[in-house]
Amino acid sequence: MEYFTIQEFERSDTAARYCIDNRLPERLRANVAALTDNILDPLRRAWGRPITVTSGYRCAELNRRVGGVATSMHTIGAAADITTGNPTDNRRLYQLAQDLGLPYFELIGKKYDFKWLHISYAPDRARRRPA
Ligand SMILES: [Zn+2]
Repeated sequence: MEYFTIQEFERSDTAARYCIDNRLPERLRANVAALTDNILDPLRRAWGRPITVTSGYRCAELNRRVGGVATSMHTIGAAADITTGNPTDNRRLYQLAQDLGLPYFELIGKKYDFKWLHISYAPDRARRRPA
């Protein structure tokens, strides 16, 4: 992990507001590290400017609070919602992730009007088409 920290994955305004303990369990650290090493760090390096994680790990309670699906990859530390700060650059970042051939499982941006990108890593699952 070069450009991102575990703390960024745990931080959540919603968790803070509802006093939810969103600390990443030790057993899920490897998932966050794999997502970062294989996807987020290479993407950040090529992008050359800051990328913010707006939602990383979500414990089950936090995931329910934010209306995430129960099977969300956020709950195992294998997904992150990220932003450059604006939709125009997020659209470029979405394209860059594809151009770099990053081994993501899901890359979702259009669905969110590029307000943020959802990106996940699951090496044992067939990659999905960007959406
Ligand atoms: Zn997401």
